[in-house]
Amino acid sequence: MDIKEKKPQPPQNSTLFYCVLVLVILLILNIFVMPSLAERSIKDATYDAFLNDLEAGKISEVNLEEDVIYYLEEGNGRAQVYKTGYISSDVDLVERLDEAGVVFNKEVPQTMSPIVSFLISWLLPFVIIWFLGGWLMKKLMKNMGNMGGGPGAMSFGKSNDKIYVKSSTGIKFSDVAGEDEAKELLTEIVDYLHNPEKYKEIGASMPKGALLVGPPGTGKTLLAKAVAGEANVPFFSISGSEFVEMFVGMGAAKVRDLFKQANEKAPCIVFIDEIDTIGKKRDGQIGGNDEREQTLNQLLTEMDGFDGSKGVVILAATNRPDSLDPALLRPGRFDRRIPVELPDLKGREEILKVHARKIKIADNVNFYEIAKAASGASGAELANIVNEAALRAVRDRRKFATQADLEESIEVVIAGYQKKSRVLSEKEKLIVSYHEVGHALVAAMQTNSAPVHKITIIPRTSGALGYTMQVEDGEHFLMSKEELENKIATFTGGRAAEELIFHSVTTGASNDIEQATKLARGMITRYGMSDDFDMVAMESMSNQYLGGDSSLACSFETQTQIDKKVVELVKKQHQKAYKILEDNIGKLHELAKFLYENETITGEEFMRILNTKPRIGMNDQAEEE
Ligand code: ADP
Ligand code: MG
Ligand code: ZN
Repeated sequence: MDIKEKKPQPPQNSTLFYCVLVLVILLILNIFVMPSLAERSIKDATYDAFLNDLEAGKISEVNLEEDVIYYLEEGNGRAQVYKTGYISSDVDLVERLDEAGVVFNKEVPQTMSPIVSFLISWLLPFVIIWFLGGWLMKKLMKNMGNMGGGPGAMSFGKSNDKIYVKSSTGIKFSDVAGEDEAKELLTEIVDYLHNPEKYKEIGASMPKGALLVGPPGTGKTLLAKAVAGEANVPFFSISGSEFVEMFVGMGAAKVRDLFKQANEKAPCIVFIDEIDTIGKKRDGQIGGNDEREQTLNQLLTEMDGFDGSKGVVILAATNRPDSLDPALLRPGRFDRRIPVELPDLKGREEILKVHARKIKIADNVNFYEIAKAASGASGAELANIVNEAALRAVRDRRKFATQADLEESIEVVIAGYQKKSRVLSEKEKLIVSYHEVGHALVAAMQTNSAPVHKITIIPRTSGALGYTMQVEDGEHFLMSKEELENKIATFTGGRAAEELIFHSVTTGASNDIEQATKLARGMITRYGMSDDFDMVAMESMSNQYLGGDSSLACSFETQTQIDKKVVELVKKQHQKAYKILEDNIGKLHELAKFLYENETITGEEFMRILNTKPRIGMNDQAEEE
């Protein structure tokens, strides 16, 4: 591209050029297009009609050509040009026309006055072409500007100014529930922007930048918007991806431009969302992403260059903090790191309440229960749950959402919609019933397991044919080795039930297997819960906010050992689960029958059946003991 070399043209010159261009277009139009258009507006007439008109004195002008007669007929307040054939045997036609006072014209008569016709054929098109062309030209230039030129004239290295708009979202801190620590840290920044003197008196300076880190959907973007809403200062919001340009140097130019504008508007806040797109570690490889590195370098320079006391605060958000360039994170740049974690139980309850304000909802809804059931859900998921509940209420033609709506929505968000069209065969349904009860029963028979909340065998759009929902009583931050082992046993409980009852296995346990393996692996490689490896980390985690990728960090022999240990651990728990079910086979039958018939068991029903005096089951157990 040689855009750089193109100098913007002096304005007079280009206007003159443009003028000539438009005139040429007009000339072409008038010579080739207009006549044929005019031709079209002429109607054909028979010779008879012509004579009649002549007799009636309606004809005012004629143009006699070789073999055609054009004539202008006026009458009833309007004029029309006709054409008819010239019959040479009509010798005294010219005389008759003369007598009738018809004007002989050298050209085809026209209905319009010459001035009007000039206006229409020259002036009007000129104006239209002038403006339309100008507009098109501007568009074209702008596109070129986006590609590498600049807005308007072809100035190089300017970005579109419309990216940096002042936020008018109206979001306040009260719209963000939970995340109290993050709010506190951000409130300080807002306070600084409002009365910097308070801080200057002591000599404290505000951090130049704050980095919001956390898993997706926890409210990072929302928090930044809230800061904008509270601070009452200009707010420049831009996403990291907007810096990524096709041409090397453009992203850097955008950064320069952004900071220039921010400096002019200080005090203000600059928010860069998803900063990992430009802030990735520079790897120094040849042929690396030059454009991205230049952009990052420019960002680093700009952040060093501006005077923090002027009141420009940079906020940025990311869910991949470990991929950021260390230079970006050092003090003086993004020196404040604000974790925005998944909400805890109380946070979840508050988030539900915040979003429930937006919908009509029954007064007696117990948000605490919903929050408990939705453990591990992010703010975005909770917002989704509330919205799904409202949608469900509408579907059922109710005026407000209820507790049941919310409970169903949790399942929708976790497992997808109910898939009514999928009909399981009787045999499959039976297997699924035993499988799910197997999970639940193993969980219930172990101490330190979360109580069963609900079991259903209604297929879901996620592909699950049924599932068992366990809900913890409170919040747990630590897990003991026993709890983890029990969890693995619970995962294997489904398969164990199939083996015990049907003496065969199905594919239905694939997800259980995956999760049990993951847990067992974690126990051995990361939590130091095996006897042989003591407290040595065999695996390192990266990308913790996006699912977590783990990479092994040990020798081949150790890997083999680890694999063995994992199998051993899962196998032991599997056997334990099998034993539990064997011991309680009466209850297993009873619960599976209930589930098979009703398709859903609530936690209470489950406990009631489990705790009623059994007929066969207890005897079996007693005999064995
Ligand atoms: P991210 O952290 O990925 O930037 P967002 O800020 O875009 O997440 O959050 C997405 C949506 O989730 C928000 O628009 C809001 O409706 C909801 N949300 C997330 N966290 C919260 C929260 N703490 N309080 C209220 N709503 C939240
Ligand atoms: Mg975001
Ligand atoms: Zn299962």
